[in-house]
Amino acid sequence: MLALVLKPGREKSLLRRHPWIFSGAIGRVDGNPDSGGTVDLLSSKGDFLARAAYSPQSQIRARVWTFDPVEAVDADFFRQHIQRSIQTRVGADLVSALARAGTSPAPTDACRLVHAESDGLPGLIVDRYAGTLVVQFLAAGAEYWRDTIADLLLELTGLKDIYERSDADVRELEGLLPRVGLLRGALHETQITIHENGLEFLVNIATGHKTGFYLDQRQNRLRARQLAEGREVLDCFCYTGGFTVNALAGGAKSVLSVDSSADALALCRENVSLNALPSTPHPPPSTLHTNLEGDVFQILRKFRDEGHQFDLIILDPPKFAPTAAQAEKAARGYKDINLLAFKLLRPDGILVTFSCSGGLDAALFQKIVASAALDAGVEAQIIEHLSQSPDHPVALNFPEGAYLKGLVCRKNSSRENETCH
Ligand code: SAH
Repeated sequence: MLALVLKPGREKSLLRRHPWIFSGAIGRVDGNPDSGGTVDLLSSKGDFLARAAYSPQSQIRARVWTFDPVEAVDADFFRQHIQRSIQTRVGADLVSALARAGTSPAPTDACRLVHAESDGLPGLIVDRYAGTLVVQFLAAGAEYWRDTIADLLLELTGLKDIYERSDADVRELEGLLPRVGLLRGALHETQITIHENGLEFLVNIATGHKTGFYLDQRQNRLRARQLAEGREVLDCFCYTGGFTVNALAGGAKSVLSVDSSADALALCRENVSLNALPSTPHPPPSTLHTNLEGDVFQILRKFRDEGHQFDLIILDPPKFAPTAAQAEKAARGYKDINLLAFKLLRPDGILVTFSCSGGLDAALFQKIVASAALDAGVEAQIIEHLSQSPDHPVALNFPEGAYLKGLVCRKNSSRENETCH
């Protein structure tokens, strides 16, 4: 039998149903399992704990498929679990995305169908962009079942095209090479138009970040739309304009979109046009939308020095701290941009600020934002806590799945009046 036998006392996390077992917990490997192949995880006394995918190269040496001793890991296992994962999206805010495929555009037709560990399928990401699926196989186990999973996805969704974006850095830790390209179907165009809460976006599934679009921010973009009316908005780290388009759709007085990527900004401009929202490359002061290419850290400083002010600032930076080890350096980065943003806000202005760093938890993020306000000499209140969209669930036995946190803060007018000019 293929099995990993744990060292004495190392079964605790598995008994709490955490799906990972680290290399240091393993006492012995029985048999010669393939990379990604299925192994039983046994306690030092030989008791069954879980059935898992073996990953000989990774520090996360095994990822659990099932804690049920009688459940086999085969095509039926994946059919059942992928189907359940898809079903949980039906009934969330994404029903129409699936039910009305192929008919008139649904208000939202892009969502995450499988969210890896958080859906009980370690290493497997499946995103749906209108009629196309984009998948990532991010761990040895998911990679091992790649063909089975691809066939099942066609069967279970009725769609024909699957594009693979197995080019995330984490594959390296699993000893897997990056792989990008068409996995099933005959898709020619990798730029896809999707709908999100009634707005349209172009998504490049071949070259875009992650699988093309930050689906995890869907609800927060809608929230920003509701907050934007009549406000002068600064969208920092705008990528392809998710927040920008929502703010314009919500009746913003103006939106200035900042990103260091010219390609992202080009798509941002297209997305503004696609939704018939006003934009121009050389804006007079009355123009609604403007792109600005550059480094947010520098641009915020420049705006501070010039006395530029805004009513709503969005900060959605990339992951500064992928792991806890980078948390300190990341904290300085978050503090810097939040401090500057507080300074640039008008009294009663609103800051919508995020961290998607897994290595930095919500409590620490809130502390960082609090100390940014303090050092900026402003008083502010949290009026809302934000997190990832419901198609990015967090399994209670896998708290690592909660990576995106956001705060909506209102800058108080009183103290600011005394200290700023
Ligand atoms: N808010 C976006 C997602 C942001 S992703 C959405 O809802 O779709 C982070 C973005 O930050 C990327 O587009 C990346 O190009 C940009 N970026 C990273 N570092 C930057 C920096 N120092 N200055 C400006 N943009 C930066």
